[in-house]
Amino acid sequence: MEKNLIVGSDSLVRLTNGNYVNYINFDNAATTPPFKSVIDEINNFSHNYSSIHRGTGYKSIISSRIYDEGREIVLDFVGGNRDYHTVVFLKNTTECINKLSYRLQETLKNKVVLSTYMEHHSNLLPWKYRYNTDYVEVDESGRLCLEDLEFKLRLYGGKVGLVAVTGASNVTGYINPIYEIAKICHKYGAKILVDAAQLIPHSPFSMGDINDPEHIDFVVFSAHKMYAPFGIGALVAPKETFKDGFSEQLGGGTVKYVSIEDVVWLDPPMKEEAGTPNVMGVVALSTSIKTLENLGMRKIEEYERSLTKYALDLIQDIPGIVLYDDKNIDEKVSIISFNMEGLYHDELALILAHAGGIAVRNGCFCAQPYVQKLLKISKEAMLRYRNDEYLPDPGLVRISFGLYNDYNEIYLFYHLLNEISKNVDYYKKSLY
Ligand code: PMP
Repeated sequence: MEKNLIVGSDSLVRLTNGNYVNYINFDNAATTPPFKSVIDEINNFSHNYSSIHRGTGYKSIISSRIYDEGREIVLDFVGGNRDYHTVVFLKNTTECINKLSYRLQETLKNKVVLSTYMEHHSNLLPWKYRYNTDYVEVDESGRLCLEDLEFKLRLYGGKVGLVAVTGASNVTGYINPIYEIAKICHKYGAKILVDAAQLIPHSPFSMGDINDPEHIDFVVFSAHKMYAPFGIGALVAPKETFKDGFSEQLGGGTVKYVSIEDVVWLDPPMKEEAGTPNVMGVVALSTSIKTLENLGMRKIEEYERSLTKYALDLIQDIPGIVLYDDKNIDEKVSIISFNMEGLYHDELALILAHAGGIAVRNGCFCAQPYVQKLLKISKEAMLRYRNDEYLPDPGLVRISFGLYNDYNEIYLFYHLLNEISKNVDYYKKSLY
């Protein structure tokens, strides 16, 4: 796809040997560089820059309209229902999940929340410390075990109120069969939250008809992983989620009436968005959604799959490469994780940066329980690591493609990885 769609696609970097090369960004699962269309729209919008919902000035009216339209754009993008759902704009996926976990406390009283071993910490910790939780297992290759999901739903005999599951793993890229999972959850009276941070920029997604047993109850995602800047994310949920009680953040913009004795809250979503909202963020997110839709989510998915297949085919035969991947291309987004024998994950990541100008990510990617499973680390070793006795820390190297990456970049990466594998000692020494 078009490289010049994004900002910074022509950046050069200086290697250790003094040469300048094109920067190759294979760390799109962490964050994606913004679309040029997004930055242009932010610039256009800046002429109408104003706080919203507060004043009657011309600019405030325009800004308020653009902000409110942003909710409709998000709702249509995720296949939500305008009468039934609402969109709450927050900082990012993490803040969205924290809000949901806070606001569901009444609904989930005396219930169990199921999360999974493959979650990002942001979809683990907000549940772990507020609820009785249990965790759905993954199999040897790291795929979610649907049998275990059903087993646990049955085991708790209707007590599971929510299943919090990722749409796609940020470590392996594995896509979970969320509609099938939704059907199983609903059969046992549980609702489903999909953490779509890694899914929504790469694959078509729909919450589905609310009367369909396969529909998704709650979805969250971050704009900075879909070619818009940091600081804005969305939580899409049934309006009734926010009917009773009030937000964990209280303040301006959430109320209709206040006296020293009394408060009347506004309807959701305003009730949930305390303080002056991030209007620029919504402009950016709305524009990135429109750009993604114009490109076509199905086309993006196909293109990124072909990049992923190309990369997997090339690197799987490199001596010393250990892949954490079942190579089922049709059920994953554009993420590949691996290690190389003889090098620690942080060493390999540094070599790729210094010798090739290639940005990757290494470590546990905020998904430690999952990485521990993939690396088959014993409980004993984990405890030693926890107590600072087990070093270096466990981890993997991750490459993740965006829609602007191309085959040539992958070939250059493969070429360097192959070189490194043949000269591990040389490259290792070059670091120290
Ligand atoms: N869930 C998944 C699957 C993620 O990959 C990430 C970001 N790495 C998050 C949640 C958290 O997103 P954010 O940092 O934007 O809140």
